[in-house]
Amino acid sequence: MDTQCVSCSDTLHIPQDSYQGEIVNCPGCATELEIHSTDPLQLAIAPEPEEDWGE
Ligand SMILES: [Zn+2]
Repeated sequence: MDTQCVSCSDTLHIPQDSYQGEIVNCPGCATELEIHSTDPLQLAIAPEPEEDWGE
Protein backbone atom coordinates (compact mmCIF):
# COMPACT_ATOMS: atom_id res chain seq x y z
CA MET A 1 0.00 0.00 0.00
CA ASP A 2 1.29 3.39 -0.90
CA THR A 3 0.15 6.62 0.61
CA GLN A 4 1.45 10.10 1.18
CA CYS A 5 2.96 11.48 4.32
CA VAL A 6 0.52 13.98 5.78
CA SER A 7 3.41 16.16 6.82
CA CYS A 8 5.79 16.31 3.86
CA SER A 9 3.77 14.55 1.12
CA ASP A 10 6.54 12.05 0.58
CA THR A 11 5.41 8.66 -0.66
CA LEU A 12 5.12 6.07 2.07
CA HIS A 13 5.07 2.34 1.52
CA ILE A 14 2.88 0.68 4.09
CA PRO A 15 3.24 -3.09 4.45
CA GLN A 16 0.14 -5.09 3.59
CA ASP A 17 0.04 -6.60 7.05
CA SER A 18 0.01 -3.27 8.83
CA TYR A 19 -2.71 -2.87 11.38
CA GLN A 20 -4.84 -0.06 12.67
CA GLY A 21 -3.03 1.84 15.37
CA GLU A 22 0.44 0.94 14.12
CA ILE A 23 3.01 3.71 14.14
CA VAL A 24 5.12 4.21 11.05
CA ASN A 25 7.97 6.63 10.57
CA CYS A 26 8.13 8.78 7.50
CA PRO A 27 11.58 8.33 5.91
CA GLY A 28 11.36 11.84 4.50
CA CYS A 29 10.68 13.91 7.58
CA ALA A 30 10.85 11.35 10.41
CA THR A 31 7.37 12.23 11.53
CA GLU A 32 5.62 9.44 13.41
CA LEU A 33 2.37 8.57 11.71
CA GLU A 34 -0.36 6.47 13.17
CA ILE A 35 -2.46 4.25 10.93
CA HIS A 36 -6.01 5.28 11.71
CA SER A 37 -7.56 2.99 9.17
CA THR A 38 -6.27 0.39 6.75
CA ASP A 39 -9.28 0.30 4.40
CA PRO A 40 -9.22 2.94 3.15
CA LEU A 41 -5.72 3.71 4.33
CA GLN A 42 -5.69 6.77 6.52
CA LEU A 43 -2.75 8.15 8.40
CA ALA A 44 -2.54 10.86 10.99
CA ILE A 45 0.38 12.39 12.80
CA ALA A 46 0.89 10.42 15.98
CA PRO A 47 0.55 12.39 19.18
CA GLU A 48 3.84 13.33 20.73
CA PRO A 49 4.59 11.00 23.61
CA GLU A 50 4.46 13.14 26.70
CA GLU A 51 6.98 12.42 29.34
CA ASP A 52 4.91 12.34 32.42
CA TRP A 53 7.16 11.75 35.35
CA GLY A 54 5.26 13.99 37.70
CA GLU A 55 2.87 11.54 39.23
ZN1 LIG B 1 7.04 12.99 5.87
